Amino acid sequence: MPTLKSINDLNRHTRPMQTELSAAIERVLHSGWFVLGPEVKAFEAEFAAYCGAPHCVSLANGTDALELALRALGIGPGKQVLTVANAGMYSSVAILATGAKPVYADILPDTLLMDVADLRRVLDQQPVDAVIVTHLYGLLGDIPEIVRLVRDRGIPLIEDCAQAHGAMLRGQKAGAFGDIGCFSFYPTKNLGALGDGGAIVTGRADLADKVRQLRQYGWSGKYHAEMAGGCNSRLDEIQAALLRVMLPKLDGWNARRREIAARYSAKISHPAVSAPAIHAEESVAHLYVIRSAKRDGLKQHLAEAGIPSDIHYPVPDYLQASCRHLFEAIDKPVTAQACAEVLTLPCFPEMSNAEVDMICDRVNSW
Ligand SMILES: *Cc1c(COP(=O)(O)O)cnc(C)c1O
Repeated sequence: MPTLKSINDLNRHTRPMQTELSAAIERVLHSGWFVLGPEVKAFEAEFAAYCGAPHCVSLANGTDALELALRALGIGPGKQVLTVANAGMYSSVAILATGAKPVYADILPDTLLMDVADLRRVLDQQPVDAVIVTHLYGLLGDIPEIVRLVRDRGIPLIEDCAQAHGAMLRGQKAGAFGDIGCFSFYPTKNLGALGDGGAIVTGRADLADKVRQLRQYGWSGKYHAEMAGGCNSRLDEIQAALLRVMLPKLDGWNARRREIAARYSAKISHPAVSAPAIHAEESVAHLYVIRSAKRDGLKQHLAEAGIPSDIHYPVPDYLQASCRHLFEAIDKPVTAQACAEVLTLPCFPEMSNAEVDMICDRVNSW
């Protein structure tokens, strides 16, 4: 059995595609066109079709996708944006970059996704100008109910789909529920480039146009900076060409990730460890995350057997050193407890069943 070097072995992931990936790079090299050319255009069309969204605008990374989505919706200083605080700070960074203030809803103890009841409570208490819902670990929660709740109040909804490429609920894909869906193609994501990448998808032509302007200095046309808040955030032709090789393989990878997650959840039986529920296509098992009140001891027990693990994520956003001074007395008890208990086990499509079984045995022997 090969030893696992990390929770996500990208060598094992890319090796079977090496010939195709090299050919894609060579194609771009020979074209002499490296930024915003035919590969980007083709990838945007293919990814929009995959997500079931009319528009896709590719960008340099997933954090830019969140920030430009917010800017396109008119978010800036004086505005408040609601999100969750257990999803790695990405949304909070984007909200703060626009000059707006993050507001948090708590999460549900079983799925660790946004608690719709707490969302309603916060919306009743204070003005909120936009909501970002994160499909954490690749799972779509009660997104139809969240859509209903915010639509009723005229609040725009952003989906953070950086962990959920291809997740599907009632025939609808992640990114197609809200006003705008944000994706990252960081190498470890379910659909990952060989470098940074990102995109938004949307059904609204006005938002697509705005993001297209914002990603290139706020230009309406060459050298005419019409929109404020612009930046440089473009996907390279080489990354777009690589993503076009990988996109047709995504559903197969997601199915294998689901299988691995289900195998873990069926086999983990330690009384002090809770394993996530087994999901169908509403999950793409980006991360396989268990919980234990004695998480650090379990992590050590795994490490002693050479099994890598990680923590997604250890610190609630409102307690991060960079921004905790902005918040007074936030109490989100489920979020705080989750950050202290979560532990991520290796999960990537190329893992063998024997590797999953070996890890389950080690967890159960703790
Ligand atoms: C990875 C990730 C991002 C950020 O994407 P980058 O491309 O690294 O900027 C945003 N949100 C979530 C939930 C992520 O997992």
